[in-house]
Amino acid sequence: MSNPITALAGVGERRAERLAKLGIIHVEDLLRHYPSRYEDRRRPIAVSALADGEDSLVRARVRRVVKAPVASRGSRIPMKVYCGDESGEMTLLYFNARWMSGFFREGAEYWIYGTARRDLSGVSMAHPDVESVSEGTAGEGEDASAGTGIVPVYPLTAGITQRFLRGLVRAAMPAAAAEKEMLPEGILAERRLAPPEYAVTNIHFPADEHALNAARYRIIYEELFLFQVKVFYARLAPRLPPRLAESLCGVDEAAALFPYELTGAQRRAIEEILRDMAGAAPMRRLLQGDVGSGKTAVAAAAAFCAAKNGRQSAIMAPTEILAAQHYKEFSRFFKDTGIKVSTLTSGLSPAQKKEAKDGLMSGDVTIIIGTHALIEPDVVFRDLGLVVTDEQHRFGVRQRLKLREKGETADTLVMTATPIPRTLSLMLYADLDLSVLDEMPPGRKPVTTRFINSSKREDAYDFAERVMSAGRQVYVVAPMIGDGDDESDEAPGMPLASALDLAEEMAERFPRRRIQALHGRMKSEDKESIMRGFAAGEIDMLVCTIVIEVGMNVPNATMMIIENAERFGLAGLHQLRGRVGRGAAKSYCVLISDADTELAIKRCNTIASVTDGFKIAELDLELRGSGDLFGVRQHGLMGFKLADPAKHIDILMTANSDARELLSGDPALALPEHAMLRGIAEESYGSE
Ligand code: ADP
Ligand code: MG
Repeated sequence: MSNPITALAGVGERRAERLAKLGIIHVEDLLRHYPSRYEDRRRPIAVSALADGEDSLVRARVRRVVKAPVASRGSRIPMKVYCGDESGEMTLLYFNARWMSGFFREGAEYWIYGTARRDLSGVSMAHPDVESVSEGTAGEGEDASAGTGIVPVYPLTAGITQRFLRGLVRAAMPAAAAEKEMLPEGILAERRLAPPEYAVTNIHFPADEHALNAARYRIIYEELFLFQVKVFYARLAPRLPPRLAESLCGVDEAAALFPYELTGAQRRAIEEILRDMAGAAPMRRLLQGDVGSGKTAVAAAAAFCAAKNGRQSAIMAPTEILAAQHYKEFSRFFKDTGIKVSTLTSGLSPAQKKEAKDGLMSGDVTIIIGTHALIEPDVVFRDLGLVVTDEQHRFGVRQRLKLREKGETADTLVMTATPIPRTLSLMLYADLDLSVLDEMPPGRKPVTTRFINSSKREDAYDFAERVMSAGRQVYVVAPMIGDGDDESDEAPGMPLASALDLAEEMAERFPRRRIQALHGRMKSEDKESIMRGFAAGEIDMLVCTIVIEVGMNVPNATMMIIENAERFGLAGLHQLRGRVGRGAAKSYCVLISDADTELAIKRCNTIASVTDGFKIAELDLELRGSGDLFGVRQHGLMGFKLADPAKHIDILMTANSDARELLSGDPALALPEHAMLRGIAEESYGSE
């Protein structure tokens, strides 16, 4: 039924491998690879009419191409293409884009689509999308209408271009005819939803705005509705037979593990968890707490209780760095308890892995802390009693379930630092009980946050120098890595700071300081040794990408500089900032941005003036038409591709009440017309 992607013209082994990184394996997967946005290329305008900061289409003739100097990589001298029409002249700029060097012919006409910049030197566009007017475009696997219409823009990966992917999606369109209807007839009629084939066709290649809106509504509604069906099904369907209740362990007993007094909120959450764990039904609880609120200790207390009952715990962290940090912390907590803590990550040697696995199977290891490595099939527990997933939005539902399947009756605790407004969590987590850490450990001072533009950058650096000479440490965060791979992602509108370039600049600016770059594509051993070095105070300044976003805990780091702050969403900025202000010393966060859009400025100002994560989440919800609460990196959260529960809260509310009504009439989804829905609900929630 489903064809491999290599069945399409132009897709060989190499491209198939690259497409697999986008989750595209079968032709049908292309139908679900939705555009991240669209460009309206229906109306070309005159070059003289180009307005600063606006995305526009022009038709212009190339006068002259000036290639970038050889070996200019990283030197920031772009290739320049001078072009124009009767009304005026403009310049196209391509930074580090050798692949474009042979593209333009002098004297030829091109469709040019991009963001115009207008300044003293004239009109320019950086990395516009271009297409020859005269030659047509009917190359292999290419999209013949890339120049006009409402054009989809897809998420990309290295080695796959926008035009190529667009062509592939078009080639896959005939498969849309086989789309099945999953939604009940009554709902289709009541919500006036477009049929699946129409929705898929128009989400990619909309005939007009109206068709696009109808397609989008249908797909978002379907994602949210199916999710709500799963949630209600899980809640209403008969549970597993009761298991042996665990004996209650007291909060005070657990509190003795920690070198500090628990906060009131921690005690409350631990009490709720311990009560669940002693109950007959498996716990399913969400622990929500802002960055730095002390979720790790709560997880440790839960693991302690499981251990007291002779059962094992698995703690799953989204990154090796985080797993290593948790492992260290847990090892300290459990040092004198006789409870054995071990770790399992893909970065370990085969012998180390084997040792950990053997320990789990024999029961010698009671608490295991790890990454995705924990869900591999050859990891077998003797008696898994508790599953904790940290920063749960990083994991798909499926991964979480895979881990839980290793212990049929295991308690589940999911922890998140993403503050979710209550209205939302009531719907999204209707199947989970909620504990909230709404209190910070004592002694935290709010992080002083400033928002500046790059002309003030030197001031920030002077301040960083003072911070470092006082023996403190500094994070510098960049939106890109800069090893050349980033550029092939979507063409950037303006050059972005990259961690590698910045690390070099910082080394020049602070010759006496120990500067180190850190990014997600490094080998995990390297990442870890850098992290260890930073935690041990052997590195003064860490220049990094968002790899540090979650969980990193180095209290001596008291300053953070965020470059291109406009590239991070509110929630992302808040999480980043949570890396400082973790000790007793006063901490600072400087956001650097030259962005001039209202939204970007508002975001930076918001983060500068508000520190409460829940408040930020609410503002995020108000502020954005598009947002970050469930931003790009959280994609796949709960299986959503297009829906963003925060952004589409109205649709979510509709889907919520529709699903509630459906399930209250047919709780087991036993009616024949609900057979398909039951299949979906069961697929995700196993036997529970
Ligand atoms: P998060 O909720 O972001 O995971 P952590 O568990 O990493 O937070 O805790 C943040 C910091 O606060 C750690 O340095 C931890 O040791 C410290 N901490 C946690 N609970 C307390 C407490 N009750 N009193 C003092 N410090 C605490
Ligand atoms: Mg944490």
